Amino acid sequence: MKQDTKAKQVFLHLQQVIPNAQSELHFTSVFELLIAVILSAQCTDKRVNMVTKDLFQRWATPEDFASCDTQELEQAIKPCGFYQVKAKHIQNACKMIVSQYAGQVPSTMEELLTLDGVGRKTASVVLAVGYHIPAIAVDTHVQRVSNRIGLCHTTNVVDTENVLKQLYPKQQWEQLHHLLLLHGRYCCKARNPQCATCVLQKLCEYNQNKK
Ligand code: SF4
Repeated sequence: MKQDTKAKQVFLHLQQVIPNAQSELHFTSVFELLIAVILSAQCTDKRVNMVTKDLFQRWATPEDFASCDTQELEQAIKPCGFYQVKAKHIQNACKMIVSQYAGQVPSTMEELLTLDGVGRKTASVVLAVGYHIPAIAVDTHVQRVSNRIGLCHTTNVVDTENVLKQLYPKQQWEQLHHLLLLHGRYCCKARNPQCATCVLQKLCEYNQNKK
C-alpha cells in the first residue's frame, strides 16, 4: 500500500473510533492552555485538571503568575511533579509574556520558543489547539504510534513531525495529533499495545511483523 493511501486509511479508522478527538486538558483561554501544557510534562491530564481547577481561581493572568510568591506556586502545583522546575518555568514564561508580549501568549512558533519551559511540542499544542494555526505536536505517544504503524521510521520527534506534515494536509494536522495521542494513550500503549482489538491491525507494521 502506498504511504499516502495508508495515511488516509489510518486517519479515517481512528476518526471512526475516536469521533470527538480533542485535548483532555481543561482550559478557558490560550493562557490557561499554556500553563496546563507546561504542567502536563511527566503528569497525567487528569491530575493537571485537578490542580488547575483551583490554580486558575487563585491566579488568573500572566501578571498574577509573574508576581506571585514562588513557594506558594510550588505548593499549589506540587501534585503535578517536578514542581520546582515547573514553577520556575511558569514564572519566567509569564514575566516574558508581560514584558515582551504585552500580556498575550504569542502566536508564532519562533516567539513561543522564547518562553522558558516551552519546547517545540508545547509550542505546537498552543498554536494548534489554542490558536487553530496548523501544527503537529509530537509527544511520546505520537512518536511511538506513528512508528509502530509505519507512517514514519524515525528516531526523533522533529523528523516525525516533518514526515507527518508531508503525509497529511494542513487542515488535518491538529486532529491528527489528537487521534494519534489518544490512540497511544488508550490502545497502542507503550508496554502493552492492544493489537487484538485495534482498528489499525491490518494497516500496522508492528502488528504485521509480529506474525
Ligand atoms: S495494531 Fe497494535 S501496535 Fe499497531 S497501532 Fe494497533 S495497538 Fe498499536
